[in-house]
Amino acid sequence: MRKEKELFEFTACKHTDCRLAAVTGSPYCFHHQKNPAKTVSAIVNELQAKEKIKNLSASYVEFSNLDLKGKILQVSNFSHAIFKNVDFSESHFRIVFFDFCLFLNCYFKKMDMKYSVFAGASLTDCDFSSSDILHCNFNGITAKSCSFSESDLYFSTFAYSEISDSDFVDCNLKKVRFNNTRRSSVNFKFSNYEEAYFGEGVVS
Ligand SMILES: [Zn+2]
Repeated sequence: MRKEKELFEFTACKHTDCRLAAVTGSPYCFHHQKNPAKTVSAIVNELQAKEKIKNLSASYVEFSNLDLKGKILQVSNFSHAIFKNVDFSESHFRIVFFDFCLFLNCYFKKMDMKYSVFAGASLTDCDFSSSDILHCNFNGITAKSCSFSESDLYFSTFAYSEISDSDFVDCNLKKVRFNNTRRSSVNFKFSNYEEAYFGEGVVS
């Protein structure tokens, strides 16, 4: 009987007792790389060389000063990675995991993003403006000085997040969840926030 192809093709690290995902191009996770710098540059080369990337495994990898505009990223795992000065603008994401990542000064402008996960991530000075960000998970994020303005955030969720000095100006917030968020200086001007869910126990 033919085995159904699994959605995720990631494998576990070969190091004894390690259960982390092996990074693309290696049988080991990022922590068990003999030459981490070489691993990072191999993954960066792949990201830069290809327009369409699928099944990339890059947990805990550190990325900085990269132009990754206009990429098609599918079913990929960047959990716990660090991104500094990375520009993903005009990219297309489907089922991409950025949970518990650290993002500093990153751009996600004019994105087409669906079913992607930023849960538990920390985002500072990041710009998600003029994007379609549908069915995405931003639960438990810490966002400082971020912009989601002029974006369609339909069915995305920001529950239990801490959001400060950030803008959601002129957004579609239909079915967006902001329950149990801690917010300071968050601007919802011109957005349909009455169609979002702010729930009970809002802390401001
Ligand atoms: Zn490992």
